[in-house]
Amino acid sequence: MRLSAFSTPGRFWRGNLHTHSNLSDGALPPEEVCRRYRAEGYDFMALTDHFVGCFGYPVADTVPFRAEGFTTLIGAELHSGPMSNGELWHILAVGLPPDFAPGNAPDFRVQPGMETGPEIAARAVAAGAFVAIAHPQWSGLTLADARSLTAAHAVEVYNHGCAMGCDRPDGFSIADLLLTEGRDLSLIATDDAHFSEPDHFGGWVMVKATENTPEALLAALKSGQFYSSQGPELRDVVVEGNRVIVESSAVVSVIVQGAGTGAKAVHGQSMTRAEVPLERLGASPWLRVTVIDAAGRRAWSNPVRR
Ligand SMILES: [Zn+2]
Ligand SMILES: [Zn+2]
Repeated sequence: MRLSAFSTPGRFWRGNLHTHSNLSDGALPPEEVCRRYRAEGYDFMALTDHFVGCFGYPVADTVPFRAEGFTTLIGAELHSGPMSNGELWHILAVGLPPDFAPGNAPDFRVQPGMETGPEIAARAVAAGAFVAIAHPQWSGLTLADARSLTAAHAVEVYNHGCAMGCDRPDGFSIADLLLTEGRDLSLIATDDAHFSEPDHFGGWVMVKATENTPEALLAALKSGQFYSSQGPELRDVVVEGNRVIVESSAVVSVIVQGAGTGAKAVHGQSMTRAEVPLERLGASPWLRVTVIDAAGRRAWSNPVRR
């Protein structure tokens, strides 16, 4: 069984799905944010400003900044309803219509009777968006919170801004628990760049599609045809009998993870192909792959169900 990102036709397009501009609390105007991502070799990006009233509920129009070899997805970071810690949800929505209706979030404080996080996430999905639970560790999200966001397609498992700004980048802990409960989820790495600190060009998705258009990218995101990276390339992942065969750019570790304590690593030098035996993963209903290069940078596959 080959992961769909490596069996579907097309090529990989590199993109950042989580970015802010000075339409909300980012440091740079939208045009300059798009220019920098394009200059850094990205094929696409989504500007996802904070969708709250004090910023005018922005859904940034990045269409003017599309160019040859570079496209944009329309999106926003949605905030509504309290998480169990009493703070507002942060929900990433990419592929929103420009006229997505505001709720009742004048700022980042909870309002009586406001739309819940699960409600605004479901509304975004109904409007056509790819939706992810943003930065679970930074948010202080509980498993019960994450469980309640049933509309989400994905969990943000690495957030570069949260890594650099507060050393809380992780979403794998929550994602792995949800996968074990049977949730069908994909995993995204993002920047969450504000350009107010070194929070950019550190985590991205590689999306497999036949063309670099918003429609094709969005469809591929929703169907999980992508992997995430900080640098290494994943070239193939095949589950075959009681082993996983991984092809990648040169790495020093290839790790397969599954439910509970299930995990197995293979270490080496400049490895571009590794076979990871699955004995340690027992009957885990799902598997995923991490590769780590000599500089410590990682790439992560989406999970696959066995
Ligand atoms: Zn956020
Ligand atoms: Zn953000």
